[in-house]
Amino acid sequence: MTSDAIPAAVACHVSTRGPGPTRLSARASEETLRLAGQARWQVDATVVGSAPQGAVARAGDLAVLLVGEIPDDGGPEAVLRLYHDLGPWAFSELAGRFAAVVVHGAGERVTVSVDHAGTVPLYVVHTWDGDIDVATEAKVLAGLGDRGRPLPGTDEVPGLRGVRRLRAGTCLTVQASGHSRARDTWTVPAHRERVDPDAAVAEVRAVLEEAVAWQVREPMTTVLSGGIDSSAVAATVRAHSGRVATVTMGTDRSDEFAPASLVARHLGARHTQVSTTVDSVLAELPFVVALTECADPAVNEYLLPLARLYRELPAGSRVMTGYGADIPLGGMHRGQADMALEELIVDDMSTFDGLNELSPNLGSHLGLWTSHPYWDRAVLQRLTTLAAGLKRREGIDKWVLRQAFADALPAETVSRPKLGIHEGSGTTSHWSEVLLGRGVAAGRVQAAKARISRDIYDLVVAGGQEPGDVDLGAVTTAVVAREELTG
Ligand code: AMP
Ligand code: MG
Repeated sequence: MTSDAIPAAVACHVSTRGPGPTRLSARASEETLRLAGQARWQVDATVVGSAPQGAVARAGDLAVLLVGEIPDDGGPEAVLRLYHDLGPWAFSELAGRFAAVVVHGAGERVTVSVDHAGTVPLYVVHTWDGDIDVATEAKVLAGLGDRGRPLPGTDEVPGLRGVRRLRAGTCLTVQASGHSRARDTWTVPAHRERVDPDAAVAEVRAVLEEAVAWQVREPMTTVLSGGIDSSAVAATVRAHSGRVATVTMGTDRSDEFAPASLVARHLGARHTQVSTTVDSVLAELPFVVALTECADPAVNEYLLPLARLYRELPAGSRVMTGYGADIPLGGMHRGQADMALEELIVDDMSTFDGLNELSPNLGSHLGLWTSHPYWDRAVLQRLTTLAAGLKRREGIDKWVLRQAFADALPAETVSRPKLGIHEGSGTTSHWSEVLLGRGVAAGRVQAAKARISRDIYDLVVAGGQEPGDVDLGAVTTAVVAREELTG
């Protein structure tokens, strides 16, 4: 099954075996990606051999595999042309949502890169024998890393010795012979620009419009909570395409149906409501951990409801989200003075890397492709470099974004206070109650969530277990029995 809405490649595993004639393959098939049992799009690209159209481009002794997408409908050919002219610096030029692998010659040199924010994660093992393995999931490299060398521009993956994750905004060249070199292609801006408030408002709207425009492709759904972030995205899609489809999820415990409906009506959206149980949301935990390969319990709580909602969306479609706006805008730090807010934003922007919150895996195993316009490079650059005084102004959080969409959304939406998806769906409170019900002390609930997340991580990422085989109740029982959590 193929769909024009989905990039040609959504995952990869590239192996080079050296020294000697190289068997070089790039594929995301049942054998190589553990979660691909559910994957509907396969990259079956043999870089030396035949490749599926759109995933791989070759010229001379260079082969480029592009996972994800870059603006202007550019495929791997565009990356190849740029690489031909600029070498590794090509990746400083590329805005997009991608991971890329460039194979030189027969595989004696491999260059890998990820976008500015590392939104498509990439993992590398370089053995002392000169083998180079690259994959978009760390778990498929488990076992290979035992003989893995250290690599610049990377961090070791917890629990997977020798498997290294490429840092956001980094390009790494690995020579089979041993030498390797990393270059920054983007860094989080450390400066702030003086921008007139009216100009800032107009610029935020304009960059968001551009980010949405290059990522819109039908069929597409915007996941809508009725908060300012996703409502602004839905309004932008509507303005760009003349129509918008929206979906809101609620549980038996809590929902945001009314505020979302208000926005959908205002935009004339084709709107759907999905009702589910909060238990089924929590049951996603092993899948979320397996897909993000991250044990951070807060991130898991945000992603659980989305993972559940994605199961209801038709395969072959694209999902537009408002995810992540709060990080550069400081939206979760209500009530902070401007100067303190500036420091908090600096902290938040220095800790996103490796959390894999925006990983496409969460959707791609269901045949969906996700776009997060607030983390588009130009949008992120614009939002980060605005002074905190424009993000919190006249006592209003995310002031600049709210102003930017004041004429496009109901007044009630523009002024609606932030509600996190983990709150609006009742996920956080439900998980807490489950743990309290198991005798966990109130002050130890966060610790329990962290231990459970880590245990599941050890099973499904480091241990290679299928997430569907993980019994969350049993993991919880084991954690409660093992740790001092009830005291
Ligand atoms: P939030 O934590 O509220 O910032 O949520 C992140 C993103 O997830 C939002 O911008 C929406 O795109 C999406 N989202 C949040 N809540 C819901 C919901 N109840 N139904 C559908 N999508 C949602
Ligand atoms: Mg929300």
